[in-house]
Amino acid sequence: MKKTNQYWDATAEALSRPELEALQLARMQSTLQQVSLSSLYQKKYSEAGISPASVTSLDDIRRLPFTTKQDLREHYPYGLLCVSKDQLVRLHVSSGTTGQAIAVLYTRADLEGWADLLARSMYMTGARPGDTFQNLAGYGLFTGGLGFQYGAERLGLLAIPSGSGNSKRQIQLMRDFSTSIIHIIPSYALRLMDVMIELSVDPKRELQLQIGYLGAEPYSEEVRRRVEEFYGIRVFNSYGLSEMNGPGVAFECSYQSGMHIWEDAYFVEIIDPDTLDPVPEGVFGELVLSTLNREGMPIIRYRTRDITRILPGECPCGRAHKRLDRIQGRTDDMFIIKGVNIFPMQVEQVLMNIPEIGNNYVIHLERRNNIDDMIVRVEVTDKIFVEDMRHLHRLQKKITRDLRGELQITPCVELVEPNALPRSEGKATRLIDRRHL
Ligand code: ADP
Ligand code: ZN
Repeated sequence: MKKTNQYWDATAEALSRPELEALQLARMQSTLQQVSLSSLYQKKYSEAGISPASVTSLDDIRRLPFTTKQDLREHYPYGLLCVSKDQLVRLHVSSGTTGQAIAVLYTRADLEGWADLLARSMYMTGARPGDTFQNLAGYGLFTGGLGFQYGAERLGLLAIPSGSGNSKRQIQLMRDFSTSIIHIIPSYALRLMDVMIELSVDPKRELQLQIGYLGAEPYSEEVRRRVEEFYGIRVFNSYGLSEMNGPGVAFECSYQSGMHIWEDAYFVEIIDPDTLDPVPEGVFGELVLSTLNREGMPIIRYRTRDITRILPGECPCGRAHKRLDRIQGRTDDMFIIKGVNIFPMQVEQVLMNIPEIGNNYVIHLERRNNIDDMIVRVEVTDKIFVEDMRHLHRLQKKITRDLRGELQITPCVELVEPNALPRSEGKATRLIDRRHL
């Protein structure tokens, strides 16, 4: 183990690969003993005729059945609980975009473990006591608010729980308290950018921002660049999901090249979502996660539906924790049109590379006379909007051509004026599929 103060928690971050794997196995085995207390896993393992005690190596985990969102819904609210209710101190509920909610239950130790993961993540990017951290994420049932709040306090940052929305006040707080670090979902980072442009606020000159944590919804490398350039900050990708506590599952280090997944706390697998077989390192598939040190509500082999891959090779920072590539989208976001599989993220990559395009877009899928159409509505920047028709027409043609190059189908592109498209308070809706309505 290396001894250095570059780590918030060297006992976890500086483990070598073999040390990390030994720790994982020990934690997996005790987690498996514990889950036999939950009604969901009692049922699952007896139906599959498997005794969790038969897991004697990390590979053995592959013999255990998966856990799905549906399992969590059907066993709402307490079906995964492994401690007595009086040990619980908090719960979060993930709304999900569709259907029945799921509940995540935390003991005091779970909250402390979670806060430590976020403190570790932020420290890794350079956050230190003395920094002011403004958390522009929704507080309440959404894990991005309280999760980051407790992590920042644990690390010793001055944490402002500003929540999402009320952009003018956000800017004022940034000024008044010299905010150096923000946590913000990507679509709000883009919207706040538009507000600043409207108010003629130049963050690079007038604010002290240095670091941004962006996550909770998919976004492209192109959006990262836009946000970095406009605010004059370094953006670090942050990944998590309520089922696995919330944010703090995987986080980018100062090299900004993939997110280290905290393998002392989570066991990671990537599977082919159709065959359910493991895929080799470097190949895209569905992320499957197990908790390794959670007491209230451990989860084994959870199918996240997020598509990503393990980046091969070692990170120059020296951490042995594997790195996840940017999330391409969820399996349920992928749509098929004219026989082609497409993720909204592919559209975003193309759009955000074109400087004349503003910060908001939406994809509509429609069926007209039995033919599927893809309509991409994009906001153009103020500067372009006042140009003559010929110019706009050329831009529209260019966008269509670029999209065709990426997607292999020809969408219908509509340019709209700045701020014409609807904006949501929380995560953005990028896809509206009206084909089956
Ligand atoms: P909900 O399911 O209600 O959206 P969560 O807040 O738990 O609730 O959302 C977690 C999901 O958000 C992840 O499964 C993933 O799809 C998405 N997500 C989180 N972080 C990122 C990220 N950095 N990049 C892309 N998607 C992300
Ligand atoms: Zn690293």
